[in-house]
Parts: sequence; C-alpha cells; structure tokens
Amino acid sequence: MRKHRVHHAPLEPVITLSQLESEHLRVLRVNIGDAVNVFDGAGLEATGAIASLEPLVTLRLGEVRSVNLEPPRAVTLCIALLKGDKLADVVRGATELGVSSVQLLITDHADAREIGMQKLERLRRIASEAAKQCGRSVIPSVLEPLRIRDLEAVQCGVVAHPRSSLLVRDAVTWDAPVAVATGPEGGFSNPEIATLERLGFKTVTLGVRILRAETAPIALLGALIAGEGF
Ligand code: SAM
Repeated sequence: MRKHRVHHAPLEPVITLSQLESEHLRVLRVNIGDAVNVFDGAGLEATGAIASLEPLVTLRLGEVRSVNLEPPRAVTLCIALLKGDKLADVVRGATELGVSSVQLLITDHADAREIGMQKLERLRRIASEAAKQCGRSVIPSVLEPLRIRDLEAVQCGVVAHPRSSLLVRDAVTWDAPVAVATGPEGGFSNPEIATLERLGFKTVTLGVRILRAETAPIALLGALIAGEGF
C-alpha cells in the first residue's frame, strides 16, 4: 500500500504535525507505529513512525533523503489573474507538471485586477496538496501579482502568443532557469508583448486553435516539461 504523505519543516528526529496534517492523518485512520512519508517542501523527505495521535500527531523520523522529481532547471509560470476559481486548477496542474513558482500578473485586458489574501493563501494550500499528491518534495511558491513591467529580465523565457509560429521545443534549451507566460482571456496587449520581448521572452505557439486562458498554461507546461520526459 502507498504510504501517506504529509508536509512538515524542518525534518527533525521527532516532529509534531500541524492541526491540519494531524486531522488529515486521523481521517485516514492511521495507528501508532504506522509509517508515513514526510516532506519539507524544499526537496527533502523522510519516513517516520507514528509515536502518538493526540492532541497532535507526532512522528519519529528515520534518515532524511533528498527526493528529486524536479525538471533540470527551475520553471516559473507567469500567469495573468483569472476570473472565479480558474487559478486553482492552473496552480494544481502547474504543480503536478513541475513548476518551482507561480508568478501572478496584473495585465491590461485582465479578467481580474487583484487577488485577496484569502484567495492567495488558498492557492498556496492547493500547491502544497498537489505536491503531496504527485510525489514532489518541493512546494512551488505562489507570488503576489506584479505588473509585467515590474518582472525581472530572463535568460530563457517564452510567452504563449497566438500570432507566433515558433514551437516551444525550439525556443528552450534548458541551459538556464525557464520562465513561461500566458495571458488572460482577452490576451496580452501589444505593449505587454513588446515589454515581455524586451525582458527576454520569445513568443511561441500552442497550435492553431485558441485555448482558454486556463488551458493555455497547462498546454505550455505539458509541451515544455512533460513532453521532454521531465
Ligand atoms: N484573442 C486573444 C489573443 O489574441 O491573445 C486570445 C487569448 S487566449 C483565450 C488566452 C491566452 O492563452 C493568450 O494570451 C495566450 O497566452 C494563450 N493562448 C491561447 N491559445 C494560444 C495559441 N494557440 N497559441 C499561443 N498562445 C495561446
């Protein structure tokens, strides 16, 4: 049977889990002595035995090991703020596909112009849950929104743009961290595309059909990461 996974940092010989993780394990009806995998969100993992269940679950950990399911270079997804709960699916999928961080963007044709702290915290919890579920030991950070002009220049970046014909695989050589960007339902404005190009992003195509703003980042990361077998 697959071992349950929980998140806790730092990984010390004896750890006490948070209320949330303790409840999660109790719902799964674990018992004293059961083995559980614990990851720290930054690339380390250990197997522990449950030492007590109440008031919070405590675990005695074995040897700490490094677990590397990461792409060869860090990947940052820059994504426009989207309406409703669409970003939840994007953050979940992007975590499963291996991004190191998600940088939210305020864009000219944005569906949403801001994000509340509660919603941002929820996206961070979704990233943590998705990392737990897919076997990663790294939890991507979800960063507060920035304007495109405030992004840092990149060595290797691609922006999905329906009017490009360059393929993702021809634009990325994996010799530097990779930044990828996708726009809102209304698309990036021309000045935004010009700014991204000035910052080092190349425009790439995702095919001949127009994808929804929440589909495009997953298609782009699929081509970039899963398509390479990373
Ligand atoms: N009319 C908008 C435009 O021309 O950009 C369409 C926007 S599309 C719904 C939302 C975002 O998904 C775009 O900003 C782009 O980043 C990405 N996208 C969707 N389909 C694409 C495609 N076939 N090629 C490249 N990027 C695409």
